[in-house]
Amino acid sequence: MEPNNKKIAIGWFSFSCCEDSTIVFTELMNDHWQEWKHIFDFRHVKVLKTHNIMDAFDIAFIEGAIASPEHVEKLKHIRSISKKLVAIGACAVTGGPSAQRNNFNDEQKANIAFLVERFGALPEVLKVSDVVTVDASVPGCPMNTDIFLKAVTALIAEFRPDLATPPVSN
Ligand code: SF4
Repeated sequence: MEPNNKKIAIGWFSFSCCEDSTIVFTELMNDHWQEWKHIFDFRHVKVLKTHNIMDAFDIAFIEGAIASPEHVEKLKHIRSISKKLVAIGACAVTGGPSAQRNNFNDEQKANIAFLVERFGALPEVLKVSDVVTVDASVPGCPMNTDIFLKAVTALIAEFRPDLATPPVSN
């Protein structure tokens, strides 16, 4: 079998959320950039670059809850072009805190109905797994960095097993 030396193509996408896990992701670059720049093809990561490519991903990271029909369609499209999909942070994994309007009482729901209509939002906010199959989840608000790094390490081992065990230097 041919050795697989290709970089792992990743996408990072934010839906309805505060994007704090995106900030945490960029903070992790302080420690991991030198390693990750050789491993990952940052194909669609808007926080890092202006020109992003939306064609195919080995791993798609999804932050935020799904709050509109447009979100549903975009998420399904991302799933269709991604080998693995990882839900990032509590809003993606459980819906909340972004989904707190789901728990409003009738009066509160009536008070925000004009906003739901104005923004063409779904009647209820969804978690990522309500819409597509999720391969791994990283809980936390923002995401738990230990669980994120464990998930990333496992995915690197899956896509590039040659990188999982670094060669021992003499
Ligand atoms: S899980 Fe927390 S940090 Fe992440 S988007 Fe939701 S509110 Fe923000």
